[in-house]
Amino acid sequence: MLTEAHGDDTARRSISRIPVIALVTVSALYVACLLLGDLARFDAAVVWLGITAELSAVAVCIFAVLRTRRSQWQVVFGAAAVTVYTAGDAYYLSALNGQHSLSVVSAADVAYFAFYPLMLGALVVTVRKLKGLTWPLLLDSIVGALAAASVMAMILAPVLQAGAGSSTTFEMVVVVIYPVLDLLLISTIGGLMTSRGLDLGPRWPLLVAGLMLFAIADIAYALGTQDYIAGSVIDAGWILGVVAIALWIDGVARAGAVLRHHDRGMPAVTMLMVSTGSAVSVLLIGCQVPIAPLAQALAALTLLLAAAPLLFRNRLLVALATTDDLTGLPNRRGLIRDLRGRLGGRRSGALFFLDLDRFKDVNDALGHDVGDALLVQVGERFARPLTSNDLLARLGGDEFAVFLDGVSLEEALRVARRLEAELAEPVQIGTASLKISVSIGIALTPENGTDIHLLMRKADIAMFRAKSSRSGHHLYSSMDDDGGARKLRMLQELRAALVEGQFELHYQPKVHLPDDAVTSVEALIRWNHPVLGQLPPTSFLPLAEEAGLMPELSTLVLEAAVAQVSRWRADGLIISVAVNLSQSCIQHGLPRQVRTLLTQHHLPPECLMLEITEDMLMGDPAHSAKILAQLRADGIRISIDDFGTGYSSLAYLRDLPADELKLDRSFITAMRSDRRAGGLVGSIIDLAHSLDLRVVAEGVDNAETLLELRALGCDLAQGFHFAKPLPAALVVPWITGHTPVAAVTSATG
Ligand code: C2E
Ligand code: CA
Ligand code: CA
Repeated sequence: MLTEAHGDDTARRSISRIPVIALVTVSALYVACLLLGDLARFDAAVVWLGITAELSAVAVCIFAVLRTRRSQWQVVFGAAAVTVYTAGDAYYLSALNGQHSLSVVSAADVAYFAFYPLMLGALVVTVRKLKGLTWPLLLDSIVGALAAASVMAMILAPVLQAGAGSSTTFEMVVVVIYPVLDLLLISTIGGLMTSRGLDLGPRWPLLVAGLMLFAIADIAYALGTQDYIAGSVIDAGWILGVVAIALWIDGVARAGAVLRHHDRGMPAVTMLMVSTGSAVSVLLIGCQVPIAPLAQALAALTLLLAAAPLLFRNRLLVALATTDDLTGLPNRRGLIRDLRGRLGGRRSGALFFLDLDRFKDVNDALGHDVGDALLVQVGERFARPLTSNDLLARLGGDEFAVFLDGVSLEEALRVARRLEAELAEPVQIGTASLKISVSIGIALTPENGTDIHLLMRKADIAMFRAKSSRSGHHLYSSMDDDGGARKLRMLQELRAALVEGQFELHYQPKVHLPDDAVTSVEALIRWNHPVLGQLPPTSFLPLAEEAGLMPELSTLVLEAAVAQVSRWRADGLIISVAVNLSQSCIQHGLPRQVRTLLTQHHLPPECLMLEITEDMLMGDPAHSAKILAQLRADGIRISIDDFGTGYSSLAYLRDLPADELKLDRSFITAMRSDRRAGGLVGSIIDLAHSLDLRVVAEGVDNAETLLELRALGCDLAQGFHFAKPLPAALVVPWITGHTPVAAVTSATG
């Protein structure tokens, strides 16, 4: 399910670094030239290097947009902002025509102004995800901007006063408005970072630094408008600002994932505290020295408005409690809140539970960051086929829920298919392309109930059904309920049993037919259920396999079996144990796991045999054969269990990487009633012997069959005729009673 294109990608990534390297080089040259030259004079070389740096920044942005295939609005808006700003500078330079500066307001200002809404757009696309939080956030930003403006008004008072006295009021306003806009952007970032700890990408300090440079240059320009010369050090603020912002955009594009929540955000009130603090300072300074009345008015307004976000805080708290951090969707609580009032009476609707298939694999293989990014994108895809009247929530983990209001069964099924189809296209996260599918459980209201919790439970049961039958989606029916609910409960109990150690191994002797000696036993698992009593493996192993608990369970069995053999050895009983493996255990790590286990217990490899079934070999023969070959090279013997029930032909026997064949019980049972079965068993034994394989007869439960098997040359037999699987404590007494001389050697002898 995971496909990662490696080689190609590294190449593509190095290529994508070229514009960045060019940008950094040109910028460094520009700074060097600026420092070496005369800072206050017009210098053509510096001017051209500056505009080249800006154009390289545009190139970096265009690459970023192309790389993300226009999928990240933050990158698109940011790139547009950098591009228009550079266009403004390019126009300014081309219009200079030998002059050292243009009049204060020129056509370039149109482009400069356009920069701000675009940049604001780049920031606000992140806010859009946080339904219900937009208002407090914007208010925070406005308060921040007002406070900034009041400080500006105080600092720039001389300019304003000069402006008020002459006829250039409009120009003055234009000049003064830039720093205020810069600070508005910075305060918006402050608002974003404080209110939800939102991630603006790994290089967010560059963004802040860039905007700070803008603000400094704009203030410096406003203070010295008349003396401004293109190419002077003031330009450096804007040019390096553009460069920093472009590098930030590149960082966002590279991070690949959409914004992540991070917990290291500043406390939510920081923004308000800084704003009110600045406003109070302005007012205090105003008491000591004469400052612009505008500054005082703005400061007062800041304080007034600062109270408003506090009123919103309560709503914010509610919003936080009902919103999922990662995706910005309602969480389980939010869903329940939104569902209230939509259920009841005759109102029809459908509740979906969606659970991603094998999401855990992604998390385990590629890490939580990729898992999180995947969840965010999946959430966005699920939203696509829904209308504004439908609800979409993330219940936690990889579970989502959808509620469709006022739909018929047909419409609900259609939407379910659309939701499945949304995941048909792999999800792109950084360099990984992830193919994921979903299982959807559907419960209808009022048919399946009008109570929220009942409906949620039924949708959950239906989802479980969809998952186990791999059918994509499943409509709840009362038939599922019993089985489904029981299964769900059983699964929880199974997990608890693993933790609490409710499993026990029983051991069934394998009797060596020529001399009746017992030198090996097969370990068979039992579950001592606290309520239901002892359960046979067939009643819980399929569920364990389905729920992915098998590797854990097998590790448990292997460890217990090996530990037991070691204990028997200490007591003087030299015996080997056969452990049953399931398909999911045939993994790369198995040979090492087994080796480590045996070394820990100081046991030779002959002590352990692994039983696997034929069809486990059929799934991925090359892969299994390799692992089994490793085990056998280490001296661990392999037994083919339930032989004859699989699909392999006898001809296939030759290629089996095994030491032993266990003839399935069905053949042995058939021997009593059907003469042909005896013939078949005989020929399998002969063939196996010619291939140097031992043959074990399973399920031998009567003396006649045993007699016939002896006659046919069968090597070993196992079955109720000798013994049922026994608790560990009964094995030694049984063996002692069975073959007093052959197997038990006294510790002293
Ligand atoms: P299996 O490996 O074929 O084990 C033999 C099963 O036949 C055992 O059932 C055993 O109790 C039963 N049996 C033995 N002799 C006779 C007989 O004479 N007559 C009859 N009617 N039955 C006999 P059990 O213990 O219920 O195990 C069932 C299956 O569960 C096993 O079949 C094996 O596939 C699986 N299993 C058991 N323990 C484990 C385990 O630890 N790991 C894994 N992966 N599978 C296990
Ligand atoms: Ca077995
Ligand atoms: Ca068997």
